[in-house]
Amino acid sequence: AKKRGRSQYCYFALEMEEQAQSRAMLERDLRAALHLQQFTLHYQPVVDLASGTICGVEALLRWQHPERGFISPATFIPFAEQNGLIRELGEWVLWQACRDIADVRRRFPHLGYVAVNVSARQWRLQDMSALVGQVLNSTGLPAQQLVLEITEQSFIDDLAFVSRELRSLQLMDVRVLLDDFGTGYSSLSYLKRLPVHGLKIDRSFIHDVTEHPEGAALVRATLAIADSMKLAVVAEGVETSQQRDWLLGEDVRHAQGYLYARPMPLDELLALLEATHGR
Ligand code: C2E
Ligand code: CA
Ligand code: CA
Ligand code: CA
Repeated sequence: AKKRGRSQYCYFALEMEEQAQSRAMLERDLRAALHLQQFTLHYQPVVDLASGTICGVEALLRWQHPERGFISPATFIPFAEQNGLIRELGEWVLWQACRDIADVRRRFPHLGYVAVNVSARQWRLQDMSALVGQVLNSTGLPAQQLVLEITEQSFIDDLAFVSRELRSLQLMDVRVLLDDFGTGYSSLSYLKRLPVHGLKIDRSFIHDVTEHPEGAALVRATLAIADSMKLAVVAEGVETSQQRDWLLGEDVRHAQGYLYARPMPLDELLALLEATHGR
């Protein structure tokens, strides 16, 4: 037993070392990735549940690593937040998304908004409202066509500061959605004080609506709150027609998920718009 314990320990130590190495490599590569143009944006349509028409798209970051292949944002965003690279990366995402969608809208004026994810740390690292103003100005994207998705993490350090920034954005007509709603600790208390346009119900909750009665009850309660506060709702991660029907029954208007479309490169989005909107 002792021997096995020891070899398990060695194995464990080796694994930790490998993890540390791969961490260091990831960090180094991440810094280079921006300049090597290894990042791209994919776009996932947000649809009107009743009609199935596209009302907007969410920009989702993709990292194509030359050796390791595709690396998920869930893996590298936390690194970028730790080492501060999120500032540059976040700026790049905002510029690219607004440029892309301003372009797309020249051909398909009916395409609604583009939603851009803003990491909590970005508020501290840069003047978001100034950056947004500059990007809208030079890309020509109308402010009404930009949505920022933020998480409640954003408010943990300085609620007053971030709310002021949100108010400037609101004055510019940029809408803000509270992302991953319900996954944090104190979403409800923030809702009351923040100038947000609406919230996105995280896909973990949507998954449960047709699985457990408690899951359905939780989402119903969230919808009641959103309704009483006149907040828009987007349901995330809709994968089955049962989930869609449930949401329709609850009068939810907007959703995104694999049932409708996966995140896709810009050219695929254009092809999809071509097919659905005609020319
Ligand atoms: P999120 O903002 O909650 O984005 C939704 C995630 O759910 C995306 O994962 C999307 O691909 C995935 N998804 C959409 N529909 C479905 C579905 O029907 N089923 C399932 N299983 N998944 C679905 P993704 O693209 O891997 O992004 C993960 C997270 O990384 C995002 O979660 C967001 O927090 C972060 N992220 C992505 N792009 C950016 C970015 O440009 N900036 C920042 N700061 N964070 C980003
Ligand atoms: Ca999001
Ligand atoms: Ca500002
Ligand atoms: Ca989510």
